[in-house]
Amino acid sequence: MTKDKNQDIDEVVEEFDEKIEEISTDKFPCPSCGGNMAFSPTEQKLQCPYCKTVVDIENESIEVKEYHLAEAEEMASHNWGNEKIVIKCSNCGGETVMDSSMQAQFCSFCGSSHILKTDENIGIKPETILPFSLDAKKSKDKFKKWIGGKFFAPKEVKQKHTLNRLQGIYIPFFTYDADSTTAYTAKRGVYYYTTHTSQVNGKMVTKRIRHTRWTTVRGVYAQYYDDVLVNSSKNMDDAMIKKIGGFDLRKLLPYKPEYMSGFIAEKYSLSLDEGWQKAKNQIDNQIDQGIRMQVGGDEFRLVNKSTNYGDIKFKHILLPMWMSAYKFKEKAYRFLINGQTGQVNGEYPKSALKISLVVLSVILVGAVAFFFLSRQ
Ligand SMILES: [Zn+2]
Ligand SMILES: [Zn+2]
Repeated sequence: MTKDKNQDIDEVVEEFDEKIEEISTDKFPCPSCGGNMAFSPTEQKLQCPYCKTVVDIENESIEVKEYHLAEAEEMASHNWGNEKIVIKCSNCGGETVMDSSMQAQFCSFCGSSHILKTDENIGIKPETILPFSLDAKKSKDKFKKWIGGKFFAPKEVKQKHTLNRLQGIYIPFFTYDADSTTAYTAKRGVYYYTTHTSQVNGKMVTKRIRHTRWTTVRGVYAQYYDDVLVNSSKNMDDAMIKKIGGFDLRKLLPYKPEYMSGFIAEKYSLSLDEGWQKAKNQIDNQIDQGIRMQVGGDEFRLVNKSTNYGDIKFKHILLPMWMSAYKFKEKAYRFLINGQTGQVNGEYPKSALKISLVVLSVILVGAVAFFFLSRQ
């Protein structure tokens, strides 16, 4: 039985490898054989899938820009390099950006095959990109190990549905910079102690009692926030992304179409303003903590505050993930791997048959135990 399972998985791996070659771009011809080169996570270079020739990606002369929020839509470049197309899923509405030479067969977010090329605007070009460190083979191994350990996952899922849908996808994020000035009123509580001596049962007992003295503090807290990171995808929820851990953003590089070659990117679905609202929530929490530090004391209460933001700047960045989305009995599930660190997170359907077998055996063991215990 285990033999069968491995055979199935190996077949799927083969299919998948063929597809990876199929979807490579034709815009980076190999200098040796003319084949289509794609970005290689292991080499961190363009690599020819046929003759394995590698070519460096020059990236030194590119300047990373941040755009003022109000004018970002007009000022930022919409040219992603190479000819790109936008594919939209009619099932979940998810949109992906890819080289026009790529062939998409299913939606990366829900696994549906109802996908269409749209005329939709490609959106603002990413300013920086975190290239994949984890290649297709490693991510497939991770997946096999992960699903192999899920006892309750139905057999069908372990064999087919997921592995051939594992896709390297860059997920869009926005970063915001902002200057903030906050006028606030707060209460600072400082502890002081009094001692009380009384007679209990003929003995003198001294008690130390804590009190809080409150004073009102008014002040101004000014802080500059740099690169506040916001997930700008509505298809990928924050909680799921959190579970694959953080990314080392120091490794971000100025965007070049070479890094996307052989991969796809999700088109951001949050507007720049919606993204800013999310960033503001994060900043707001940090401001509260900053005020708390500034006010000091043993206890703290914020009475009110009012913040002015200035010099708000924006940047679009792409982060790498390996993802597999699939439908099982009309429900969508996702498997996600951090394309930089390899950290895994996923959802999977639980086999009703396997669960009831386990429940049944627990009941059986209980019944047998009861039978023997009651005879003693
Ligand atoms: Zn070649
Ligand atoms: Zn979809």
